[in-house]
Amino acid sequence: MSGQRASLIVVSACLAGIRCRYDGKSRPVDPVVELVRAGKALPLCPEQLGGLPTPRSPHERVKDRFLSKSGTDATEAFKRGANEALRIVLLAGCKAAILKSRSPSCGSGRIYDGTFTGRLVAGNGIFAEALKAHHIEVMTEEDL
Ligand code: SF4
Repeated sequence: MSGQRASLIVVSACLAGIRCRYDGKSRPVDPVVELVRAGKALPLCPEQLGGLPTPRSPHERVKDRFLSKSGTDATEAFKRGANEALRIVLLAGCKAAILKSRSPSCGSGRIYDGTFTGRLVAGNGIFAEALKAHHIEVMTEEDL
């Protein structure tokens, strides 16, 4: 094989039309679907990689914990998923990401505040945070 290939962009799998969300649905965004179709983007779902079921209870981030509305603590699964997804991202040499806004895993800049009321606070999802710590540029579908 010869020639240089641009690095893959990692994308939240739900934005690519994969039904991996907590409610068993996806949130496809046309430019993201097209990137995957063209072989330019790698779809990942950190929550599934952490072993969480689909569908699952929605969780929100409260400092460094990840809790369902009823208070079930899934912090270990969220951490495991972010780590596993990061391993794939580093293996594939991704330099940029397009992630789902506001998610406790994928959100960037603003996430739900942990009260399940739709309110937002400054912060990142745990996967977005891991990518930023490795100097991978993170944007959301709202930046497209
Ligand atoms: Fe989408 Fe990320 Fe949530 Fe998976 S963890 S459903 S990829 S927002």
